[in-house]
Amino acid sequence: MAALPVTVIPAPLPVTLPVAGSDAAFPVRRVYCVGRNYADHAIEMGHDPLREPPFFFQKNPDNLVTDGHFPYPPLSSNVHFEVELVMALQAGGKDIAAEQALDCVWGYGVGIDFTRRDLQDGLKKAGRSWEAAKAFEASAPVSALVPAAMIGHPQQGAIWLDVNGARKQSGDLKQMIWKLPEIVVELSKLFTLAPGDIIMTGTPAGVGPIQRGDILSCGVEGVATLDVRVV
Ligand code: MN
Repeated sequence: MAALPVTVIPAPLPVTLPVAGSDAAFPVRRVYCVGRNYADHAIEMGHDPLREPPFFFQKNPDNLVTDGHFPYPPLSSNVHFEVELVMALQAGGKDIAAEQALDCVWGYGVGIDFTRRDLQDGLKKAGRSWEAAKAFEASAPVSALVPAAMIGHPQQGAIWLDVNGARKQSGDLKQMIWKLPEIVVELSKLFTLAPGDIIMTGTPAGVGPIQRGDILSCGVEGVATLDVRVV
């Protein structure tokens, strides 16, 4: 392996995610997110789910947090939760064939795509990009990852999120408009995917606001659960 260059400032630490039942971590390269991938959520956001191709945006690797805390972000008074199945890639490429797509997936977890909805609404109206609404500090709490070798590739099963014990989001993975292999196929038309890439696969209906002090509990049946406190 080539020696790392001496750096002129301290090098940022690599981002890793914990792996359930293991001391070894999963190293993160990029974080992709799928927009409007459940019909009922597309409808609640005012869109026609049947006529829109998938679209993607990104968060930053260091937006992923695993300490169970979400600090309420500045410059927003309407931050929404979006519970999502998380895919973690062990292989990549471009123009990946559907038959090979799931072979690229190392494992899965559950995460929350926190969104500054008020900022996002303004950015949408202005035709501007979504970074400030989506890719902010700690905006993606995630669970430990579970290898597909243990649980397979989830095609169905409940996905839910509770706030302070009250169910807010309740869906099923089989409601995804673009299924897991299709997400990999479509994303790999736009980007060269690589080991370490994380994909957040979209949220079912029921998104809503949070307050400081809220306890969020979410999960995907047969994959993982995650508890997050808003601070
Ligand atoms: Mn989302």
